[in-house]
Amino acid sequence: MDRCTRGIVLATYPPHLSHGTKELSVSMATLAPQTESSNGYHPLPVYQNSPTFQMALHQLHSVTEVIDIDPGVLERLCYPKRAMVVSMPVRMDDGRTQVFFGYRVQHSLTSGPSKGGLRYHPSVDLGEVAALAMWMSWKCGIMNLPFGGAKGGIACDPAQLSRGELERLTRRFTEEVLSIIGPRMDVMAPDLGTDEQTMAWIMDTYSMKIGYACPEIVTGKPIELGGCIGRREATGRGVTYCILEALKEVGLEPGQATAVVQGFGNVGGVACQELAARGVKILGIGDRFGAIHNPRGIDVAALQKHVAAGKLVRDFPGAEPIDPAAMLTLPCTILLPAALERVITRQNANQLRCRILAEGANGPTTPEADAILADSDIFIIPDVICNAGGVTVSYFEWVQDLQQLMWSEEMVNQKLQELMLRAFHQVCHVARTRQLTMRTAALSLGVEKVAKEKQRRGLYP
Ligand code: NAD
Repeated sequence: MDRCTRGIVLATYPPHLSHGTKELSVSMATLAPQTESSNGYHPLPVYQNSPTFQMALHQLHSVTEVIDIDPGVLERLCYPKRAMVVSMPVRMDDGRTQVFFGYRVQHSLTSGPSKGGLRYHPSVDLGEVAALAMWMSWKCGIMNLPFGGAKGGIACDPAQLSRGELERLTRRFTEEVLSIIGPRMDVMAPDLGTDEQTMAWIMDTYSMKIGYACPEIVTGKPIELGGCIGRREATGRGVTYCILEALKEVGLEPGQATAVVQGFGNVGGVACQELAARGVKILGIGDRFGAIHNPRGIDVAALQKHVAAGKLVRDFPGAEPIDPAAMLTLPCTILLPAALERVITRQNANQLRCRILAEGANGPTTPEADAILADSDIFIIPDVICNAGGVTVSYFEWVQDLQQLMWSEEMVNQKLQELMLRAFHQVCHVARTRQLTMRTAALSLGVEKVAKEKQRRGLYP
């Protein structure tokens, strides 16, 4: 019997909310043992019902094969420290009241306040948010940031809500989770479907509640409110720094490389710009409405203008439409998923024709796909380092707000690059010397750091 694990419970999950669930429910039986508390009581299946949470749990267990971890600490790390589920009535523009569900999950507060994004997406649920919170813990560990992991989300489609509805929803959510957030307790940031404006509303609501301006309650806010220059671009830039190092590892110049990018939002959009600026030819770009392909390369600046004018990526005249699933298997040097989790699966993993898989999104590759890719020559830059630029510059922003001292853009970018490269090479070194996959190497560094801190602090009371 595995340490802290026994028994297997297969996930049942509403099919309309999850793609790839069947894959998980079938093969996680062999891959991801379910945890059972050491006292014999089964934890409620509130998290395990999510295939994304099962995936995070499986990854955690996979690293226990290569690191030494106290069974009690491991058992604790399998679950968030705390989670809050809120229902929020919101007055809609047409006068109706609509109830939304929101979540804030804090995986760990051992190393400092918990830190993590807030996402607005129709399929958000407690398990998904808990998985994302766990990944944030490992990410902060690898980057050596004084934070634990957290995540939040509201099940909604932001594209269907007016600005006023989004503002009322955001302010109500802030009010509902007020008791568990704070600059020294839990600090939110933008994620899928949220942006600087969302953070500004949270900052304002929190500040009104406590009676004074508190910019350090969120990161990724507008510069005028104490935001950090370069935070908006930080994740895409960090992704790019990792890709440039990976290109060196596989012996290619950026000018020889091509890329396919899923997601043209904050992460994908900035990464496209940064890669194109370095001579990488972008062959395909997709978003939630469709995908486009141009074998001669997509003019990213022209596409940005097209999208800024309110038009859809799929209608861009400088490229041909392509089936979004087929886009992922185009021959290219770099495949960059920068949208949702679980898009590289058992079904398409052996059809990938890239040399580098750069995980801009969180959790884009299922464990089954990972097992397939382990036998290929694809160089994987795992999410926990690839997209860590966002939380790294969020850390810079938090520090600046606490000290009321602003850094220059040059200093932000230079420090970001320094920390990203250090983490990337540390992971490569561990992978090489210990003969591990890049993912196992990265996760082992993150999990080990958090576990050691827990061990050092000891058990209260
Ligand atoms: P965003 O909302 O700015 O952009 C998301 C993009 O994904 C959009 O172009 C959207 O159309 C596209 N998309 C949504 N559903 C899709 C689908 N079914 N198929 C294809 N494309 C789809 O979000 P973001 O901030 O760029 O986040 C993207 C990913 O990066 C998420 O996994 C997020 O957790 C991760 N991430 C973001 C940050 C950050 O700083 N924003 C940091 C680390 C990780």
